Amino acid sequence: VTWTPEQGWHDAVVKPYGPLAIDPATAVLHYAQEIFEGLKAYRHADGSVWTFRPEANAARFQRSAARMALPQLPVDDFVAALDTLVRVDEAWVPSGGEASLYLRPFMFASEVFLGVRPARQVSFVVIASPAGAYFSEGVKPVSIWLSEDYTRAAVGGTGAAKCGGNYAASLIAQQEAIANGCDQVAFLDAVDRRWVEELGGMNLYFVYDDGQIVTPELGTILEGITREAIITLATEAGHKVEERRIGIDEWREGAASGRITEVFACGTAAVLTPVGTLRSREGELVMGDGTAGPVTTRIRRQLLDIQYGRTEDTYDWLHRVC
Ligand code: PMP
Repeated sequence: VTWTPEQGWHDAVVKPYGPLAIDPATAVLHYAQEIFEGLKAYRHADGSVWTFRPEANAARFQRSAARMALPQLPVDDFVAALDTLVRVDEAWVPSGGEASLYLRPFMFASEVFLGVRPARQVSFVVIASPAGAYFSEGVKPVSIWLSEDYTRAAVGGTGAAKCGGNYAASLIAQQEAIANGCDQVAFLDAVDRRWVEELGGMNLYFVYDDGQIVTPELGTILEGITREAIITLATEAGHKVEERRIGIDEWREGAASGRITEVFACGTAAVLTPVGTLRSREGELVMGDGTAGPVTTRIRRQLLDIQYGRTEDTYDWLHRVC
């Protein structure tokens, strides 16, 4: 779909996957005026196909668009675009196991010009691709590298938007994590260099020995759809869930003393993944016994059961596509 100030959104088309013709002076290639989303379509045992809270992705897409001076796409149009594509590609939605059809909606400045200003032609595209289960051989705890040289988001910056530029800026930190033998990178805030924010592509949760659960407050982090669902599920299960600042010192002391019993990360791709270790220049700390704890395991199962239709969707989170 294309947008111009004169015509609004127009020329919606579904076509076979293939390259886009891009002029070398297309604005997005130079100024990265671009946003995206990620979600999945799940096939239930009866053959029906569902997405998980697509309106929440649509609303986040609108917030990202506002921050990046891109036009607003109505929530209904966003959801209808996904539904249309999934129906066309229905045969590609996997059955059985925890596989899915991954959906990647994105919007970018497609105007051809070299000035620095918001583009007057914008494109909205959705691509779909079958995705296998995130953990095919059982849940494996991730190891985390603490980024001390790089930050992901400044106050007033784009941290809360899902724009490509955020990910471009965090690639070097992810590379450093891999070089240090870790799977993922964790970022601290840009001002005090002390408050835990999130991983490269996941939000973080801390479980305390009294059952309380803490997750970093919103502001400069991405407002994860999974993060929000977990607040609901954990609260319902009787946990006191707090959204507040948590310092790297609190994380370290809590893990060392046993006050923090479990740490997990969450996002659309992995749903919930236990954090096994935190590594930095200071050394390595193991979370609990380094394996998936009971709270992580229970919430993970609960969320997957809702997504795959194995339990009742009492929160009305699922959207039927076909
Ligand atoms: N933080 C970042 C930086 C991410 O890229 C993602 C993945 N979208 C998340 C958190 C988790 O968000 P969600 O639960 O919506 O996938």
